[in-house]
Amino acid sequence: MFLQSIEKQSVFHSSIPLVPMGKYAHFVVLRETNSFPLFRTDEVLNFAQVSAGLKTNEIMSRIVVFKRKQTTPERLTGRELLRRYNLTTDEENGDKERYCEYNSERFCKHCPDCIYYGFAIGQEGSERSKVLVDSAFSLSNYDESHQSMTFNAPYEHGTMSKNGVTKSSFGEQDHVLPQIFFPSIITIRDPTEAEFIYVLNNILRTKRYGAQTTRTGTLENHIVAIAFTDGEICSNLKLTQKLYDQLDVNDAGQIVKGPYQAATLIEKAAKILPMLLKEDRVTTHLLFDGEKLNTLIEEVGEIVTQEQTLVQVLQQAYSECENYAVRCRPPRGSSDEKNKAKKATKTK
Ligand SMILES: [Zn+2]
Repeated sequence: MFLQSIEKQSVFHSSIPLVPMGKYAHFVVLRETNSFPLFRTDEVLNFAQVSAGLKTNEIMSRIVVFKRKQTTPERLTGRELLRRYNLTTDEENGDKERYCEYNSERFCKHCPDCIYYGFAIGQEGSERSKVLVDSAFSLSNYDESHQSMTFNAPYEHGTMSKNGVTKSSFGEQDHVLPQIFFPSIITIRDPTEAEFIYVLNNILRTKRYGAQTTRTGTLENHIVAIAFTDGEICSNLKLTQKLYDQLDVNDAGQIVKGPYQAATLIEKAAKILPMLLKEDRVTTHLLFDGEKLNTLIEEVGEIVTQEQTLVQVLQQAYSECENYAVRCRPPRGSSDEKNKAKKATKTK
């Protein structure tokens, strides 16, 4: 209905299936820092010791961006749009059906955010995320990817002293440097066309990631490729290590250090992808990279930059999710619910 450059029948579902049906869309993304984001849970940046590449036994410390640090800002981008176009609301006195509160007991359980990305409400049930994301690792090592910065917190008039007393609140924090790359694969399990556009739009539009809203840094998501397969593909770590193996070496045989250029890395990542897909033993139905990818992204861009078509996508997404929610959790007393209950007792 929306996209012309994809043969839709083979890769999208016309409604969200209740059980996994083996259709996967993978967005292979290079996340590039554009300023100084903080990816930490405590005072220090998260990092892990791993092999630098697949061809070398060299160990490297890499900065880690955990799953939630990636998905939360992207979810919020989508949620903002749902409210902007009145599909959901945060007004308690408004339409009760459309009220949805993030990360609370009051997730609505039927909007695109709740259904695509999942939710968990104590006893009341949960929905597994259909958007699968894993921790991402910096391509370059920790030492060359971060900087410790001291900051002071001056008083409002701009100095560090008040009533003759000098404030000593200098802090120190590790920030990620600009132009650091985090290869990351975002997978949608069993996408519909509207879901695909909704999730891709969130990836393309989200710019701020990091610890808290006041201390976030900007980040740019470069789409390297989009692959439609019948199974899961490699981890972010493996992709990162494989990409590391492709980096240029100097005359002494050492890997040339960054900062790296996005365009060069995109080309290298796109080149290794078919190999990785083959190693994953999946059947690839469609692979978009290079020119083909540009055409697709442009087409999605056309749709999401015009209010009329964007709203159509959001409405389509919303009604698919509502429909799915009813099939999953039939209203009390309906014949569907009785059948479900019968089935459940039979299997016990
Ligand atoms: Zn919701």
